[in-house]
Amino acid sequence: MSSSPIASGPLVRRNSRRVVISHGGREIVVGGGAPVMVQSMTNTDTADAIGTAIQIKDLARAGSEVVRLTVNTPEAAAAVPAIREQLDRMGVDVPLVGDFHYNGHTLLTEYPECAQALSKYRINPGNVGKGAKRDTQFAQMIEVACKYDKPVRIGVNWGSLDQALLARIMDENAGRAEPWSAQAVMYEALVTSAIENAQRAEELGMAGDKIILSCKVSGVQDLIAVYRELARRCDYPLHLGLTEAGMGSKGIVASTAALSVLLQEGIGDTIRISLTPEPGGDRTKEVVVGQEILQTMGLRKFTPMVIACPGCGRTTSTVFQDLADKIQTFLREQMPVWKGKYPGVEAMNVAVMGCIVNGPGESKHANIGISLPGTGESPAAPVFIDGEKKMTLRGERIAEEFQKVVLDYVESHYGQGHPA
Ligand code: SF4
Repeated sequence: MSSSPIASGPLVRRNSRRVVISHGGREIVVGGGAPVMVQSMTNTDTADAIGTAIQIKDLARAGSEVVRLTVNTPEAAAAVPAIREQLDRMGVDVPLVGDFHYNGHTLLTEYPECAQALSKYRINPGNVGKGAKRDTQFAQMIEVACKYDKPVRIGVNWGSLDQALLARIMDENAGRAEPWSAQAVMYEALVTSAIENAQRAEELGMAGDKIILSCKVSGVQDLIAVYRELARRCDYPLHLGLTEAGMGSKGIVASTAALSVLLQEGIGDTIRISLTPEPGGDRTKEVVVGQEILQTMGLRKFTPMVIACPGCGRTTSTVFQDLADKIQTFLREQMPVWKGKYPGVEAMNVAVMGCIVNGPGESKHANIGISLPGTGESPAAPVFIDGEKKMTLRGERIAEEFQKVVLDYVESHYGQGHPA
């Protein structure tokens, strides 16, 4: 049989080392072909142990597989063990990552319980110290990581690039017969900083499978260029993300654009979406966006997907928008419980469509679909289950009745004793 010239994938992941981040009995694998992991970061004052533990619980419940928190003061370092204990008491076993800048060497040394409670340390080589102190302070952090057997992320950021290293690369560039552009020099400095510091950590005794790298910038094309080069020059697992993605749709679009290109090329082992929260907004949005990027690209499955049409002049009511929103929220809220109770439910598709044009067709492709009546159609909503029309809903309670249909489907197809 000859194969069709039109085919999707398979997407080939870059070969990388395998790093394990653990807490208690829970192990999260990054790299080595493991599924791309979603992580997030708190924005509470870490010294507020209760407030921080609550936000970590919310992020973990939303699906964050690792949560990072800033450890910037003695008070924050002292609070970390209390945060860990509080989470353990609540049954939240998500591994915690400490984010260190400037004083990480002091805090990790003077607060050994903090060093132990964390499952990974993020070290920014641009913020470790200056001059002769730089190497000593970097070595101190690596020593602590080795002592407690913790992995590290060497996280370079263009907003805090090691200035001595940048000056060296600029000097090298000045000596070239045809000097590179300022942009190319900056890319080179970011990549070199990550790789040289990883090599330095290995020379200091850290195992190569304890190191993850990142080189964050805030421009989409810059991020793609830098990570392509980083991926070409090393086999450490890579943490992807724009450093300041921005607010609202801009942050989501920029992150999706940058990460999709790299993930499609097999680059990236863990992602974080750095969204600026709207005032009073929900921090867990960054987790949801990260999951949706991976799920819409077909890389992972987290939550049943709702396929909804955009609506048009054929339907002037907002019934289908309300229903799509209600069902999506309902499915996401159920997932913490459903994950354990209904294995495989995250692969389910639900279609909510606005009229007869594409409604029945799209609904037939989904596990469950409903085609609501458009303007001028009879006030009836056919429901399709596994491609077949099974019932028609009418009246004021269509949303409640459809939710019940979805629940019955989940119970019968993914509950214990289901045939598949
Ligand atoms: S399914 Fe109907 S209402 Fe929805 S976009 Fe298509 S034509 Fe418009």
